[in-house]
Amino acid sequence: MNEYDSNRLADLLKKTGYERTKDLEDVDCYILNTCHIREKATEKVYHDIGRLKKKYKNKKKPTVFITGCVAQAENNEMLDREPYIDAVIGPQSYQNIPKIIQKIKKRKNKLNLTSFDVIEKFDRLNDIKNSSSKTSSFITIQEGCDKFCNFCVVPYTRGPEYSRSMKEIIKEANELVSNGVSEITLLGQNVNAYSFTDNSKVFKLSDLIFELENIKDLLRIRYTTSHPNDMTSDLIQCHKKSKKLVPFIHLPVQSGSNKVLKIMNRKHTREEYLAKINNLISVRPEIRFSSDFIVGYPGETEKDFNDTISLVKQIKFLNSFSFIYNKRPGTPTSKQNSINEYIQKKRLIVLQNLLSDIQIKENSDQVGKLKKVLVENKMKNQTSYFGRLENFTPVIIEKVTNSDIGKIINVRINNFNKNNLFGVKEHVESVVAA
Ligand code: SAM
Ligand code: SF4
Repeated sequence: MNEYDSNRLADLLKKTGYERTKDLEDVDCYILNTCHIREKATEKVYHDIGRLKKKYKNKKKPTVFITGCVAQAENNEMLDREPYIDAVIGPQSYQNIPKIIQKIKKRKNKLNLTSFDVIEKFDRLNDIKNSSSKTSSFITIQEGCDKFCNFCVVPYTRGPEYSRSMKEIIKEANELVSNGVSEITLLGQNVNAYSFTDNSKVFKLSDLIFELENIKDLLRIRYTTSHPNDMTSDLIQCHKKSKKLVPFIHLPVQSGSNKVLKIMNRKHTREEYLAKINNLISVRPEIRFSSDFIVGYPGETEKDFNDTISLVKQIKFLNSFSFIYNKRPGTPTSKQNSINEYIQKKRLIVLQNLLSDIQIKENSDQVGKLKKVLVENKMKNQTSYFGRLENFTPVIIEKVTNSDIGKIINVRINNFNKNNLFGVKEHVESVVAA
């Protein structure tokens, strides 16, 4: 979501005469868009500002804004700790940035904009064209969270659940497709909680997907991140009926232990999660899943951890993320004692090795097969091109030309490593759907 937000900030600032630059030697305004999910990201902010201060020691100081969830969570504390920062701007206040830049130029005081005005934000951004032309691009359709898992900062930093209007999303999707985009990933902290009411009719994520399918040159649709409890029957059926929705879902489970799920306040059991997975497989047998896992949660025993391991073995998750539990200030679990750090690290290694073995086996099984790959871009300083399978696995492709970018082509897989598949384009086929 931060990648999407950063692109939209650049679109917003273009109107005020600012251009995005990769040249950090000569910037007028430096915006650091931050994530607050784990502590490491917060500390990175101060390190980055330290580097910037060194760079501009003998030059005119750039205006420095911290945006994103670290700004939201730490606001005045950041302004006090690092006087080099001119403003902290939370995720729901981005629409004010053009005005803030002018204000900062005129006066010396610092600004704190961390209110939750999500409607005002999207009202302003809806008027500004999304300029992204990457083959695979994002659209935020939902923000915030009402679920309050005991470990997570999102409900406090992104605020309550909010869904954008279908009309505005479809308009933005059309813009992207006319820029050359072939794949859209619909984003939200709980994207499948999407619910927009228009003239007393409620539109859900499945309704939105069916509408988006009508955009002719849009080839693939993804959505992330989903909560298992919002995987409703209409959305499951959508995976059966939709021609453009990829058969791949990121469905975070966090733990395979019912005891840990309960103390995390996830509001579902292992069995309920498995039932959703089985329903999805029954409507779309080739569907695959990725997940997020937290290991070493306060109270997690060896048996609880083994429950997670057995779930991973059962579902054979691909392309997943796993983290050691990280204490986040203000969350209910932060008051509890952490378990032994050595045990946490050991468990993470065991889980990551298992996920990696599954990925390697999956990748090796693809050798010799003909796979549909969406070509995204030419690789830097190489003749090869980069693309992805429907299940998100990266593929490095030979014998491709620039005219294949944005198309789904057939690729004969001839090699693999842990993270990538390698292959050669076999013949171009015009494919309408993923
Ligand atoms: N809404 C999604 C869900 O309910 O599963 C997850 C979105 S959350 C922004 C992304 C991931 O960050 C979570 O799935 C979780 O694995 C991880 N995460 C969040 N808080 C964490 C914490 N305190 N320690 C470690 N990982 C955390
Ligand atoms: Fe965080 Fe997801 Fe839980 Fe919301 S549902 S509190 S975003 S982990």
